[in-house]
Amino acid sequence: MNSHDHNAFDSPRTAAEQGTRPDLSSLHVREDVAMAGRCGNVHLPTGRTCTLPARHPASCHFVEPDDAEHVVAQ
Ligand SMILES: [Zn+2]
Repeated sequence: MNSHDHNAFDSPRTAAEQGTRPDLSSLHVREDVAMAGRCGNVHLPTGRTCTLPARHPASCHFVEPDDAEHVVAQ
């Protein structure tokens, strides 16, 4: 993006600099969900949990805590 960076000091931050991995910066893993073989990442600001299979390739898909409970109970 900034290969032609003639004004580095005054350049506004790029999106890449601001959020290298925003999906990982505020995460925590819910153990019960992880033990069920799921990703279990929790999005702390919302309290939602990812119930996709562990080590799923794409980004996390967060669901409501109640929905996560159902997945764990399966
Ligand atoms: Zn996930």
